[in-house]
Amino acid sequence: MIRQPIVSVLGHIDHGKTTLLDRIRGTTITAKEAGGITQHIGATEVPIDVVKKICGPLLLNLDVKVTIPGLLFIDTPGHAAFTNLRKRGGSISDIGVLIVDVNEGFKLQTYEALKILQSYKTPFLVVANKIDLIPGWKSNPNLPFLKSLRDQREDVQQVLDTKIYEIVETLYQKGMSSERFDRVKDFTKQVAVVPISAKTGEGLPEFLMVLTGLTQKYLEEQLKTDVSGPGKGTILEVKKTEGLGTTIDVIIYDGSIKRGDTIIVGTRAEPIVTNIKALLKPKPLKEIRIGSQFDNVEEVYAAAGIKIAAPNLDEALAGSPVYVAQNPSEIEKLKSEIKEEIGEVQIQTGLKGVIVKADTLGSLEALVKMLEGENILVRKAGFGDVTRKDLVEASAVKKEDPLLAAIFAFNVKVPPDVEKEASDLDINIFYGDIVYALIDNYKEWVKSETEQTKEQLIKKVILPAQIRILPGYVFRQSKPAIVGVEVEIGTLVSKCDLMNESGNVVGSVKQVQEEGNPVSEAKAGKKVAVSIQGAVVGRNVKEGDLLYVDVPKKDLTLLKTKLSDILSIEELQLIEKIEKLKK
Ligand code: GDP
Repeated sequence: MIRQPIVSVLGHIDHGKTTLLDRIRGTTITAKEAGGITQHIGATEVPIDVVKKICGPLLLNLDVKVTIPGLLFIDTPGHAAFTNLRKRGGSISDIGVLIVDVNEGFKLQTYEALKILQSYKTPFLVVANKIDLIPGWKSNPNLPFLKSLRDQREDVQQVLDTKIYEIVETLYQKGMSSERFDRVKDFTKQVAVVPISAKTGEGLPEFLMVLTGLTQKYLEEQLKTDVSGPGKGTILEVKKTEGLGTTIDVIIYDGSIKRGDTIIVGTRAEPIVTNIKALLKPKPLKEIRIGSQFDNVEEVYAAAGIKIAAPNLDEALAGSPVYVAQNPSEIEKLKSEIKEEIGEVQIQTGLKGVIVKADTLGSLEALVKMLEGENILVRKAGFGDVTRKDLVEASAVKKEDPLLAAIFAFNVKVPPDVEKEASDLDINIFYGDIVYALIDNYKEWVKSETEQTKEQLIKKVILPAQIRILPGYVFRQSKPAIVGVEVEIGTLVSKCDLMNESGNVVGSVKQVQEEGNPVSEAKAGKKVAVSIQGAVVGRNVKEGDLLYVDVPKKDLTLLKTKLSDILSIEELQLIEKIEKLKK
């Protein structure tokens, strides 16, 4: 059997995720009167009949036979929920919808969502939302986009095209080819962009059509499920539910699950083995009465969102697996599988690297993945609030590499005493609930620290310079010789030795003067007067001579290893020349 594709909606705040999901739910609820629709826990199902009704003849234009039973939209939008839709080696979300306000374009969280989709290798389409806000747009509620477009003024169409092109351009910069859906030639190579208005419903038919077409055509294989097979699911949320204690909201992506089944559930430590007391679905809206929000069901098949009530679920961990054990002999095997899987995310290297703390398996994994993508080493990744022990470890790292003495706290607390100790120990804690922002803040801190160190370092080294004694500018022959020079390359500082082109030291610079005033340095292009102790004009130096700063060996090494990125190509070449002369 083929199950419904699991669809997640991601995007920047206020770009319309909730409105789009509400519109889908609204459509679903209206269509309910027409025929059997199920509301799920954490998800909304749009059955294929409803899709067909909304799309009309559009679906017939697809060159595939539609066999999927519908689309399962995850109701909690955003990347935090998405990261908990994980399973080993990827996401249980079959396809992502990246929503972008067409008038605003990509924003911080759009980029973050894109990174997350990419790191989980989840195929996605882009929804260019709020087309109704394009100046001059004439709204045609619920009409297909292409029909509504034909009804717009030429200049309005132009503006929309420009906005869509901006999205295409941004995706191109991120390494992805994309096109407006009706211009896509190859859906396996190009990301489809579907313009819609979640508010008026324009474009909704094409949105559902593209989703259906893409999943049917390219994801069919992964949608195959054995309905009599053991249920496999992922915990979306762990929640206290009145009268039921701690329950778990689970998305079942494979097989089936029944009341009374033995399930194995992931925790931070030992997996829970428990028996399902109740499988709960939301009651249809109009039937909700106080105290009975849910319907009890006997069994559900993938794909489904369901609330599970069972004993001992307090320690259940969002983002971790729920597996049905079909017979008792499987329990130990499944337990160790789950333990291993969660263990893989909890890193404990003891090596130098940053420390990561998060609240769910999904967010911990996403954060570690993204840090790895940025080549930031991780020493430890674990669950829960930041502790003293984390600080001790970060302090140990600080001794080896101060730039890795950082703690990432994603959606977890930093107790006040720990915060104070961190500031005493000068350990940086980056916290928040946006992965991208967390990593960006860290990178900014690293950058400013590195620049500061460089600034301090450059003050300590003798810089390379190549200078020429200007003919006709010998002010004094010797003791010390005073001559006019031009700095040709580099920076001439006072208190350094000068060599000639044979590498012999001819004297040391006592003072550099510009227009009669002593200066600490003179950069390339400057003409300055220099007093050189030890030089005798006419004996070891003469007018027109090229002289080089005799940079000490340890400074040459520092310049080449730590400061090379702030030196020009000429300066780097000069350093090589100076090294040769010194030999
Ligand atoms: P979310 O933060 O991504 O969930 O965004 P919301 O769905 O809450 O939308 C933010 C605001 O934009 C709300 O005031 C919506 O009414 C509005 N909005 C969302 N979609 C559209 C649209 O297509 N057109 C217009 N005009 N407003 C929209």
